[in-house]
Amino acid sequence: MELSSISAEDISTDGCIIKSDRTKRINKVSRDVEVDIELLYKAVPQLAKVFHIIDKIGEGTFSSVYLGEARMRDGRKEMFALKHLIPTSHPTRIAAELQCLTVAGGRENVMGVTYCFRREDHVVIVMPYMEHQAIVDIIGSLSFEEVRLYIYHLLKALKHIHQFGIIHRDIKPNNFLYNRHSQMYALVDFGLAQGTADTQLKLLKVDLTGLRKVPRPVFGERNLNSYAPSASSTKQAASKAELEKPNKVKDQSKRRHSSATWGPLPVRSQSCSQKAQRSVQQGLTCNCYLTDRVCNICMARKQQVAPRAGTPGFRAPEVLTKCPNQGTAIDVWSAGVILLSLLSGRYPFFKASDDLIALTQIMTIRGSKETIQAAKKFGKAVVCSRELPRQDLRTLCETLRGINPPNNKVTPVPVAGGDIDRCTIQDYAPTTRPAAAKHGLLKDGVGKTLPNHPEDLSSNKRKCSSLTDGLGWDRVPDEAYDLLDQLLDLNPFTRITADQALQHALFRDL
Ligand code: ADP
Ligand code: MG
Ligand code: ZN
Repeated sequence: MELSSISAEDISTDGCIIKSDRTKRINKVSRDVEVDIELLYKAVPQLAKVFHIIDKIGEGTFSSVYLGEARMRDGRKEMFALKHLIPTSHPTRIAAELQCLTVAGGRENVMGVTYCFRREDHVVIVMPYMEHQAIVDIIGSLSFEEVRLYIYHLLKALKHIHQFGIIHRDIKPNNFLYNRHSQMYALVDFGLAQGTADTQLKLLKVDLTGLRKVPRPVFGERNLNSYAPSASSTKQAASKAELEKPNKVKDQSKRRHSSATWGPLPVRSQSCSQKAQRSVQQGLTCNCYLTDRVCNICMARKQQVAPRAGTPGFRAPEVLTKCPNQGTAIDVWSAGVILLSLLSGRYPFFKASDDLIALTQIMTIRGSKETIQAAKKFGKAVVCSRELPRQDLRTLCETLRGINPPNNKVTPVPVAGGDIDRCTIQDYAPTTRPAAAKHGLLKDGVGKTLPNHPEDLSSNKRKCSSLTDGLGWDRVPDEAYDLLDQLLDLNPFTRITADQALQHALFRDL
């Protein structure tokens, strides 16, 4: 059951849920939840002395979050969120998450930590409980002013953590709790946080990439871009099936990537693949550079190791292309995706099952030429099979909201799916430095699995127009789209910072 479906009034003083309209759902899951609560009490018995655990309010791959009630010394009862980390979490990872909360939390819209319990490999982080609504449930009724304040408070949290050299890496509405009625905001979930080069947090100085023992699965994601596993030797390329998975070779130090050709290589034919393996080992160059094909030499390259935690639809272009030096700008991009979502009334905005699909979706909004140009700046060559024009953000959002004046020329948002374009990524400047990238992983099938994104525009128009009355959506100032444009700057080096964004004209009065 989701926490957002219960409000404080729904919980009676003895901790029973007395709400009626959701009881069916509650009853359906309650036995499972009861079992989980029992297991948690068993795993960490100290909890029982302090908390009456009422419900499970969040469940991810790496944690389960429970609602617990504690009787305070003065007799008051207080609610807490108890985050039980999966026992296989790496100790450094756990310590890093805790350090983010203790150092930066408790102010500036960042969740604080009250206590932490541990017994053997079970860790429970106790935080003040904040009642909140899920964006997906309220997006249709939010006013423009609520959206403006939401983004302002998110940027405030980002400015704060970025000052400590913390990169959150998983900025999305589920990790930014929002209480609409009391106008409270709290950034949570530092489970993927990393440090900048000059971070003030000791534990974030450690290379945390890949410390998760289980790669964080994102719904439906294909396992093509996972953290580079330990190198395994593939001296002999074997079957076709194997070739379609990323193969790894041990020695990549001598490899060079160049646009120089040495004759066309049929893609994925076995005899040629053996040749390709040898070529890679001998440091030869390939002929697919800047094409949308992936040759066998490139198939044999080791995957580039770059942090790419998070959720595909919120990942910045430099994350999607595995740029090795990523900074706080990646969180700002995610804030931009959230603003795009809120202004257009569509959540999630980008729904991608893998990184190349996500990149293609970005190109449909920000333009393929623009994306290719920006990627060059951070050393990646992106190839797109078709030119996708950049969209005007106001026109796009108003069209999706169904409030665009009729006869206004609108470039329809390409509906993801069908014959959508494919793209490949390579390291840029091939002749000057060795390419460690395993690129072009998704040669085939990009777009075939794309979920339907913005539905039919005309039906949307009918659906939304009634909801927009009185919410300010017909009077969105240009500043909102200007800020959106700067948050969604494809180039991380010129992208606005959270600090600068707070001083944007959109927030003049705040
Ligand atoms: P995960 O790493 O599993 O995503 P999170 O820290 O994001 O863990 O918590 C999962 C969910 O639990 C959140 O999306 C939110 O709904 C709920 N949650 C987490 N912390 C709190 C809190 N302090 N108060 C209320 N709900 C919380
Ligand atoms: Mg989370
Ligand atoms: Zn190649």
